Amino acid sequence: MSTNVILLGPPGAGKGTQAKTLAEQTSLSHVASGDLFRAALRDGTELGMLAKSYMERGELVPDEVVINMILEHIQAPDCAAGVIFDGFPRTREQAVALEESMAQHQSKIDVVLYLSVPNDVLLRRIAGRQTCKTCGATYNTYYFPCHRPGICDACGGKLYQRSDDSHETAQHRLDVYFAQTMPLIEYYQRQGILHEIDGQREIVWVNEMMLKALDQYLPTSV
Ligand code: AMP
Repeated sequence: MSTNVILLGPPGAGKGTQAKTLAEQTSLSHVASGDLFRAALRDGTELGMLAKSYMERGELVPDEVVINMILEHIQAPDCAAGVIFDGFPRTREQAVALEESMAQHQSKIDVVLYLSVPNDVLLRRIAGRQTCKTCGATYNTYYFPCHRPGICDACGGKLYQRSDDSHETAQHRLDVYFAQTMPLIEYYQRQGILHEIDGQREIVWVNEMMLKALDQYLPTSV
């Protein structure tokens, strides 16, 4: 039996940071739709080209494209123990498609961890976000700055800002989240699998709450 978890929350809630840590602590595989699109863009694939204009505008890539990409990706052997979904699903259509596909494979979503963060904090979190080109470590110029500007503390690599993290695009991504993704909170609440966690608290505290919520679903304790 696999364990499948969705990290739900607005852009800037800390889903990526938390998902990475959870994946290291468990046997679950971290599947981030945004990362898959960025990798496709870097590799210059057809999928990357298709997603590019949507991403640059802070719009959602069409459901059909995202659904096909994710459902294919989770068939890989490294997803057999289960998946931490990060950034997917983002619409009701995506949620339904995921559910149907999992049911076909005698699987299901066990828990949805909803990271709630007040709106005013989100913009600073997104617009201040910096990522290391070499090791992928993330920083924030407001909340978690690196010691030498633009240089990764962990590996000395160069830091960059995602092109869709500019102030204007960030605001639009938040608007898109409120309109299209927020209804999923109620959707999963009705299924009785939503678990809300205060995403404003420290990273370590949030991680502990997540592990607690997952405890009964994980095959081996961490
Ligand atoms: P993220 O890294 O999750 O913030 O995603 C970056 C961008 O990739 C989003 O603004 C969308 O353009 C696209 N994207 C990622 N995941 C999805 C999804 N589940 N549905 C539609 N578009 C997505």
